[in-house]
Amino acid sequence: MTMGKPVTDATRRRIEAAAVGLPLHDRQDFEDVTRGFVGRAEQRQIRTADGRVVWDLDAYAFLREGEAPETANPSLWRQGQLLIEDGLFEVVPGIYQLRGFDLSVITVVEGETGVIVIDPLISAETAAAAFALYTAHRGERPVRAMIYTHSHVDHFGGAKGIIGEEQVASGEIPVIAPEGFLHHAVAENVFAGTAMLRRAGYMYGAALERGPAGQIGSGLGQTTSSGTVTLIAPTVEVTHTGQTLTLDGVELVFQLTPGTEAPAEMNFYFPRHLALCAAENTSHTLHNILTPRGALVRDPHAWAHYLTETIALWGGEVEVVFGSHHWPTWGRERAVEFLSMQRDMYLYLHDQTLRLLNQGYTGAEIAEMLELPPALEQQWHTHGYYGSVSHNVKAVYQRYMGWYDGNPANLWPHPPEAAARRYVEAMGGRDAALAAGRRAWDEGDYRWCVELGKHLVFADDTDTEAGELLADAFEQLGYGAENGTWRSMYLAGAHELRNGVFGTPASPSPDMLNALTVTQVFDSIAIRLDGPQAWDEHLHIVWNVTDEGATYLTELHNGVLSHSLVERAPDGVAAFTLTRLALIGLVTGALDLPTALGEGTVSVGGDPAVLGRLVALLAPGDPEFRIVTP
Ligand SMILES: [Zn+2]
Repeated sequence: MTMGKPVTDATRRRIEAAAVGLPLHDRQDFEDVTRGFVGRAEQRQIRTADGRVVWDLDAYAFLREGEAPETANPSLWRQGQLLIEDGLFEVVPGIYQLRGFDLSVITVVEGETGVIVIDPLISAETAAAAFALYTAHRGERPVRAMIYTHSHVDHFGGAKGIIGEEQVASGEIPVIAPEGFLHHAVAENVFAGTAMLRRAGYMYGAALERGPAGQIGSGLGQTTSSGTVTLIAPTVEVTHTGQTLTLDGVELVFQLTPGTEAPAEMNFYFPRHLALCAAENTSHTLHNILTPRGALVRDPHAWAHYLTETIALWGGEVEVVFGSHHWPTWGRERAVEFLSMQRDMYLYLHDQTLRLLNQGYTGAEIAEMLELPPALEQQWHTHGYYGSVSHNVKAVYQRYMGWYDGNPANLWPHPPEAAARRYVEAMGGRDAALAAGRRAWDEGDYRWCVELGKHLVFADDTDTEAGELLADAFEQLGYGAENGTWRSMYLAGAHELRNGVFGTPASPSPDMLNALTVTQVFDSIAIRLDGPQAWDEHLHIVWNVTDEGATYLTELHNGVLSHSLVERAPDGVAAFTLTRLALIGLVTGALDLPTALGEGTVSVGGDPAVLGRLVALLAPGDPEFRIVTP
């Protein structure tokens, strides 16, 4: 398929109109993002042991070239320019940050004999490279503790790049995390992981070229690194606000903030440094109430409530607030204003969406009506570089009202392909529909153009002219977007229409799989069961999990695999005796059953063929499922 079209007048006008209200006079972020600069890494490419590049510190060097090109929204371009300031930075004496090495940042706090490491990035390789830069400037200091602020992978995945599992197991290094961390860190992978990873490929634009007409950052950070994702389970849980810990002579006071940006998350304060770590509860962007890759919708009301509590706890003394992404905010007045405005932003979206939905407006309507108050809009950190007002309003609607907007016309519509055929026919057939799409293009109405193009492609995905029109319109929408993830999603759609499916760039991490609980393992098997194939099958299997001293009974019946913990195994049921890890190995295919039985890793009482009958009914997820085509 052909290459894209140059920027059109309509996109130019859209960008110019959006630029009118930008607070261009406010250059404070450029000062803050380089404040405390200590040094930059000399080795600019970070690789796996076998040489694959997982992060390139210079991949976005083109952003240094001043003014935004025509193919980018200048507000997003500006955010990208801030995000490329990589290196080691002093936050205050004794607290340092390593920024630009991944989507997230590492904070290093110096204690009496070593350091506390907060949030070790996504990959072991990027975390190791970042920590090496710290060591190069501050000397070899042993890690005395590690903290995960919350349960998202960009805050724990690189742990093994900095510390070893045995150091944690022996008690030498405590790993501190909020209550519920481990459950939530792995739970997402159990249920919808395949689909989320596929969609994350769109959201972060992993397969897109970096460049003025390509991926220019995700707003929260540039993109996600693609190295080895590890997981070391925490050994110390933070269970309540006001809890204190002294780590290597440094006192920390915690605030538990569950159900905010992540289901398990916490802020904490360093009284000696007058420094607040606000995790990802604040950042230099409007964040996601519902991430476009897919997840359970978040609670902006709780989020705002906890930020109010944060201000009440430490607003009277804090001198610097830093987080898990971006650069810090210094000075008490500015720090408290930053916390307050971030709070107000989430609460405004929450409250105003509810006000309007109670007046009968639907999510799609409110998303067009709602604007942030001018005082918030005049702050750079409230702009939608990662989340957006548009999709966050729909998320609030979804949280309270669900997908159905109440109009019975929308209760039972035809699904996309069936609807597409009918729409195209109703428009007078393929040629007339394509002509209507081209009129929308000529008028610069790309939102309508992609609506028509979507129907044309879903009615006939071999129609290359329709595919080109749709790709071109996606591209113009991407060029105009202030939101980095919107830009990447539009450009990813155009890329797949032109070049075919790029699939899922990342695969599940063995460490994450090995952290599954027995219940999570059975749940993950149950959702892979091909229901109709299993309708007539009825079988029981007993599982003696030796390292937990627990016996589980699974029953397949009515196309459902249910499981329960039992006191004793029922008679006459095949029983497998194994460890939790061996069970995970069997499920992931890392362990072959005949071999495991031969080696004694797994033993069986009764007929092992029953397991084969279950396995034959499992259907894998598809990491290459189609998104912009039927
Ligand atoms: Zn994060």
